[in-house]
Amino acid sequence: MTHLFKLDNVIQDYIWGSKTSIASLFEIENTENAHQAEIWMGAHPNGCSKRDNDKALLSELIKAQPEAFLGQRTTEQYGELPYLLKVLAAAKPLSIQVHPEKSRAAAGFENENQAGIPVTAGNRNYKDPNHKPELVYALTPYLAMNGFRVFEEIISLFEQASVPSLETELAALKANPESSQLKAFFEAVMSLEGEARDTALAELLENIDSKGQTELAKQAFAMVVEFHAEYPTDIGLFAPLMLNLIELQPGEAMFLFAETPHAYLRGTGMEIMANSDNVLRAGLTPKFIDVPELIDNTKFEPIPFDTLKTAPVVEGYRTCFPVPVEDFKIDILTSTDQAASLNTESGEILFCLTGNVTVKTGQESVVLKSGESVFVPFAAGEYQFEGEGQLVRAYN
Ligand SMILES: [Zn+2]
Repeated sequence: MTHLFKLDNVIQDYIWGSKTSIASLFEIENTENAHQAEIWMGAHPNGCSKRDNDKALLSELIKAQPEAFLGQRTTEQYGELPYLLKVLAAAKPLSIQVHPEKSRAAAGFENENQAGIPVTAGNRNYKDPNHKPELVYALTPYLAMNGFRVFEEIISLFEQASVPSLETELAALKANPESSQLKAFFEAVMSLEGEARDTALAELLENIDSKGQTELAKQAFAMVVEFHAEYPTDIGLFAPLMLNLIELQPGEAMFLFAETPHAYLRGTGMEIMANSDNVLRAGLTPKFIDVPELIDNTKFEPIPFDTLKTAPVVEGYRTCFPVPVEDFKIDILTSTDQAASLNTESGEILFCLTGNVTVKTGQESVVLKSGESVFVPFAAGEYQFEGEGQLVRAYN
């Protein structure tokens, strides 16, 4: 079983998805004018890829011959494909979220099972026992929030926003700018409810167009105004004052750590993540927010803006973005007319970003056009690629 095969992937039609971006970037049509939010490449039960020729589920193929598909190391460590590769095309902001650490996810999953909360219930936090580190690689300008701003920025932005309702909490943070106080401040904001929330939001929004003195404040407040149009009463309107606002340019990437609040706001990118669905929401959502559980799973350490991007390591035709987890790896491969060769490190997925690229093993070859993908089983051993274009390589 060393055959490589093209994948038939699920395109998720979430309401925030762009109707045009995927169709314009790739040779993928959108005849029904659907929201094309995410292309999923992997073996996740909520959108499992199929072998293109016979529509066999990748998850079933892996289950039947795990070591041939994944290799011994990955099979022993994970027992399944440990990553999910996506194209994500956001026309509107996604919810602000935090992903739990692995040990907490395992404990939380077990606790909710014990408590008899169905996995599909609205108040269920942990859908599986896994963590969900992520890396995003921008294909277009890609706007996101990631991690707490440094203390001085948070303080300055709230001062410029002038929100009397949070005066006491802000004074405490200013007097003692450290993690425990940021936690208290964030908790106070997230716990605002009913009239108190309405008042605080009204204070934030009052004259917001003219309130920002610094460039940073102008950017943050412009984001608040954008969010307000979508989510007029959402506590997430405060998020741009607390979280780094970053726009990746095409070809840039960043890692999203566990226990770090983040949100994707606009743009199209590749996303690779551990095979998990564990999300604790923190705003910009009509869905359930479990504030105590969120606080328990959040690390209140600022991430300085200039450390957010992941520095690429370029080795000839291969650009990799090192990540601090074992669940996944991602390379961008530049293919030319001169065939290049790689050894499989696990079960691998290659997604064609641009051009036409031929992928070959000993026995067979597959031509990928942009938007197409192929699964290379571990047992293929060595594979070659050639033809002008770019591939995203996912493996672990
Ligand atoms: Zn996330």
